[in-house]
Amino acid sequence: SNPLNPLKRINEEIFSYAALKQKEIDELKKMEAFRREFIADVSHELKTPIFAAQGFVHTLLDGAVKDKSVRTKFLKRAAKSLDGLDMLVQDLLTLSQIETGEIKMHLEYFDIKNLAEDVLDQFENKAERKNITLSFAKDTPDQVIVHGDWQRINQVLNNLISNAIKYSPEDSAVELGFRVLKNDVVTYVKDNGEGIPSDDVKRIFERFYRVDKSRSREKGGTGLGLAIVKHILEEHKSKIEVKSTYGKGSEFSFKLAKGQSEPLFQK
Ligand code: ADP
Repeated sequence: SNPLNPLKRINEEIFSYAALKQKEIDELKKMEAFRREFIADVSHELKTPIFAAQGFVHTLLDGAVKDKSVRTKFLKRAAKSLDGLDMLVQDLLTLSQIETGEIKMHLEYFDIKNLAEDVLDQFENKAERKNITLSFAKDTPDQVIVHGDWQRINQVLNNLISNAIKYSPEDSAVELGFRVLKNDVVTYVKDNGEGIPSDDVKRIFERFYRVDKSRSREKGGTGLGLAIVKHILEEHKSKIEVKSTYGKGSEFSFKLAKGQSEPLFQK
């Protein structure tokens, strides 16, 4: 036999080991770049409401406080900025807790129709203020059992309905419905709002991506709602889908495994 063979084998092992290490290094580098970019984004997002609140408070201290009408106006604006800051931090925490696996999914069978009723009730006032009809689609079953973490799906529905109302004009309609398939249930939220330009559709699930930054902020958006939705559905081995026509409206939908419906009226 060839006495050089063992050496050749060792050489090959060293090479494959080096290649593996290089892959790990590349992976770490990517993560590091992501982390840096994330911190830069977050700092920037935090600065916006802080800067605004700071401006109002300092102007008040510099004398504007003496004028009663200005005082109330500026205090209200400072409060709005601080509320926005609070929401941003809340969303950041949620996102990081899902990403690190700190929030575990508790999967069980639950009635998503029932859950959606509560969500629609919560948004009734917001919708009314814009004269938006917020309702279930025609022929919605009384009960729709799915498999998932109802608390997290509650958040998904909240974010989707909140967006549908936010990005819809007055006197329009937002509809929530279900498509019951053989093994799954598709839940959808449909609006006749402003829609999303096709170039932006792919990107709206990225953290802090907004079609119109200043409009989103003005409406109290953190730019994290859809990133949270995407993560929650990934944890359900599902994904969020969107169909949108710019100027016409959008439909966001997601699929969950179907459960057996209980008879509604048991003896
Ligand atoms: P935001 O806090 O800005 O609403 P989201 O992550 O929830 O952040 O959404 C990201 C962006 O996607 C929004 O800024 C908006 O431009 C767009 N968007 C989300 N939902 C809708 C919708 N129903 N209609 C139109 N645009 C939407």
